[in-house]
Amino acid sequence: MATKRIYSFGGGKAEGNRGLKDLLGGKGAGVAEMSNIGLLVPPGFTITTEVCTAFYENGKKLPKDVLPGVEAALRKVEALTGKRFGSPDDPLLVSVRSGARVSMPGMMDTVLNLGLNDRTVEALAKRSQNERFAWDSYRRFCAMFGDVVLSMKPERKEDRDPFEIILERKKRAYGVKLDAELPVVALKELVGEFKAEVKRRKGIDFPEDPMQQLVAAIEAVFRSWDNERAIAYRKLNGIPAEWGTAVTVQAMVFGNMGEDSGTGVAFTRNPADGRNEFYGEFLVNAQGEDVVAGIRTPQKIGELAARFPAIAHQLEDARARLERHYRDMQDIEFTIERGRLYLLQTRAGKRTGLAAVRIAVEMAEAKLITREEAVLRVDPAALNHLLRPIFDDGARHRAIEDGRLLARGLPAGPGAAAGRVVFFAEDAEAWKARGEQVVLARHETSPEDIRGMNAAQGFLTAFGGMTSHAALVARQMGKVAIVGCEALSFDYDARTMTVSTARGPKVLREGDWISIDGTAGEVIEGSLATTPSEVVQVLIEKTRDAASAPVYQQFAKLLGWADKARRLKVRANADQPDQATVALAFGAQGIGLCRTEHMFFGEGKIGPMREMIVAETQAERRAALAKLLPIQREDFAGLFRAMGGKPVTIRTIDPPLHEFLPQDPEGVAELARATGKPEANVRARIEELHEANPMLGHRGCRLGISYPEITEMQARAIFEAACEVAAEGLDVRPEVMIPLVGEKKELDHQGTVVRKVAEAVFAERGRKVKYTVGTMIEVPRGALCAGAIAEVADFFSFGTNDLTQTTFGISRDDVGTVLLSYLENDIYEVDPFVTIDRDGVGELMRIAVARGRAAKPQLKLGICGEHGGDPSSVEFCHQIGLDYVSCSPYRLPIARLAAAQAALRELALARAEKPRKPALKAAAPNGKARAMNRALAVPGVKGSRKKKARAHARA
Ligand code: ADP
Ligand code: MG
Ligand code: MG
Repeated sequence: MATKRIYSFGGGKAEGNRGLKDLLGGKGAGVAEMSNIGLLVPPGFTITTEVCTAFYENGKKLPKDVLPGVEAALRKVEALTGKRFGSPDDPLLVSVRSGARVSMPGMMDTVLNLGLNDRTVEALAKRSQNERFAWDSYRRFCAMFGDVVLSMKPERKEDRDPFEIILERKKRAYGVKLDAELPVVALKELVGEFKAEVKRRKGIDFPEDPMQQLVAAIEAVFRSWDNERAIAYRKLNGIPAEWGTAVTVQAMVFGNMGEDSGTGVAFTRNPADGRNEFYGEFLVNAQGEDVVAGIRTPQKIGELAARFPAIAHQLEDARARLERHYRDMQDIEFTIERGRLYLLQTRAGKRTGLAAVRIAVEMAEAKLITREEAVLRVDPAALNHLLRPIFDDGARHRAIEDGRLLARGLPAGPGAAAGRVVFFAEDAEAWKARGEQVVLARHETSPEDIRGMNAAQGFLTAFGGMTSHAALVARQMGKVAIVGCEALSFDYDARTMTVSTARGPKVLREGDWISIDGTAGEVIEGSLATTPSEVVQVLIEKTRDAASAPVYQQFAKLLGWADKARRLKVRANADQPDQATVALAFGAQGIGLCRTEHMFFGEGKIGPMREMIVAETQAERRAALAKLLPIQREDFAGLFRAMGGKPVTIRTIDPPLHEFLPQDPEGVAELARATGKPEANVRARIEELHEANPMLGHRGCRLGISYPEITEMQARAIFEAACEVAAEGLDVRPEVMIPLVGEKKELDHQGTVVRKVAEAVFAERGRKVKYTVGTMIEVPRGALCAGAIAEVADFFSFGTNDLTQTTFGISRDDVGTVLLSYLENDIYEVDPFVTIDRDGVGELMRIAVARGRAAKPQLKLGICGEHGGDPSSVEFCHQIGLDYVSCSPYRLPIARLAAAQAALRELALARAEKPRKPALKAAAPNGKARAMNRALAVPGVKGSRKKKARAHARA
């Protein structure tokens, strides 16, 4: 065989290892690695993702030549366990597990206890001397096999699992509440009834032959890669369909063997807030999914020590070893069979942004990882979590005093969310689509709810713990969530939720407002006011002392390390002094884009602007401009003062003029009064300014060329303000930017106007200020002719919003829905208005950089489109050698971190290419080098498609 298709593990070693995730899936790589490092893992083997691809190419059938390999691998497991698959004496049972390259929690299906049939069950009973356990395993297997392999799992929300209906009936018949209370005879009856149900619904006999069961189960796992849930999840997370899943077949260990057995899941640190504590849940005498499914509320890991001190000790030890080995927080699954601990899964644990920052910083401080690794560990977008609002403390207290605190649950997703309560995921989607803000409340959630969960502000469940589905999804999506809120009960038919409170039951109906505090775990009636996050309180509001703000401190540390690593500078897009102040607090090293036209919309400013536009002669226009001059000068002076010596890029007027004009009759009348013109003239002028395609119309530098007096006024305002502030003893660094240039002569024309005014103002004021004149590169011709343009430019700033529109020939304002359908249909991988399209727009940028720098080596280069705050785009800007990125103030922390990651990854690449360079070894012996290697594997930004910024502000 050309390539190895099956990798065995067990007995303290493995053929695979953690480096083979692409082939073995995360789960397969994890069990192999754990076997290699001496943790107790049941033996088994993994069939590679390549076989999954072959399966699909083979018409959804396992290729014939795979089977002999499976049989051979099975023999090895038999040798290690001393049991035989299908043996009527001592049968080997296996689980058939799915595992993709990246974890897709609960998305794919797993079958447990495979290999049981009417004969082997008797052998299992005899060997274990536990008839109850054997039949419990068998009835579970029949149901799982029916659901997963024979596709009997209900498809519609309203339908119930056929096996659950039978189970429920059985419990009623025997008058018991819990599965565990069913007597053996009932379990035996269940097996018979489950098989009859299979026959009734599928018209086939339940397969008794273990090998036939195994092949069918392997095929079912491969098929599950393409089920609806998996597809939805892949879409949300940008996982390519062609990756495929691996299948791991593994000897069963049994957590349902009695009171000295159990199963659990745990995080080596708290995944919600990052605290360094063992965090998990377990159930005694239970198997597999029981914990995650939220059927019984599990016990906390901490409670283990009291009842099972030896097991608690083994677990603590495994926790420490896994963290030391993986040097990251792990999410593990374990099973205890008669007092022996087996590990079944390990992977880097999903965590909230809050936890990600804390864990990275604390691990670096404990020297478990390097600072560079810490910087690479945190997804830049996760920093949003630390900036997100929390409930206002006063409002919260008042609500509690008023008796509006309804219930408490487990804080699974920090932050504050308020919304109208809905009970079905479909409703969450529908309500959101019509502009409502919703909180999804359910008994529990399951993978098919994923889209609705994404639509909700947050979610609330009655059942399940911190490792339940709802909690996992909350951490991943960065949603606010409370789980395990046991005071809630639901009547889905009546669409109500009843909360049992100290004062008796309280009924909430669909559509009622609730507020959930995912940090404190409190559910509050009504819509509560929010307040800025700790970081914002310290940095922006200055209402909190840094010393008493631990979250802020970690945030600041991490960004401090990032700043040391990055080469790209970061600037902010800001038009006003208050925005500039925020930008500085978030680390801005300058302003990359001040949109002067935004200034005209302020109080008392739009009037003179309109007068300027409707002016019919140059004299009239100049008169109006004269009124605007002091206003603009004031604004610019404010910006210069706020930025204290840092560069400020000011763009001359850009949008089509009609955008400033009134559309309503009263507005027209007022403008007529103000200008002393007949209304008809004003209307005519508005008419005249109307454009069929304003985005490609009379805008940008074309305006300044038609009406040089506008550019003159703006330049004068800039330089007078600069002189004024310089006179106050402050450093001023204006950079005048001309928009929409596609031809050198355009910039030449406008640059000449600007420079002439500058000289005039300097002469008048007897003071010179250093300044530069540059252009935006935002039409393809500008990028292509960058060599010529650079001759008259001091700098380029890529206006990637317009450059994307003009490169694709797409008007973002007009075809938002088309864009959505393109994303849905995978025609575009990501929204090009969120993440730079490297192949097209990016190629134009590369050309512009190369030609611009060839003509003028010292040309300064930046970006000011909205992409400047998108991590993947920031990385691209780093790679093509820009000097800075500019983004909105609140995205600066993200840009700083993304810029540092880009630099560190580049460094890692460079080191990898020259492996014998001593620098590599001189660094931390294993730490840094390994970190760098891992850094190379970091994929692009996930979920960007979901972050479709619908902001329609024109840049
Ligand atoms: P998922 O990807 O949904 O977590 P898993 O393959 O991890 O699916 O399996 C589901 C559950 O079954 C987990 O709780 C896991 O620990 C348990 N499980 C899987 N294989 C075995 C096994 N060989 N012995 C005991 N429990 C198992
Ligand atoms: Mg698992
Ligand atoms: Mg533009």
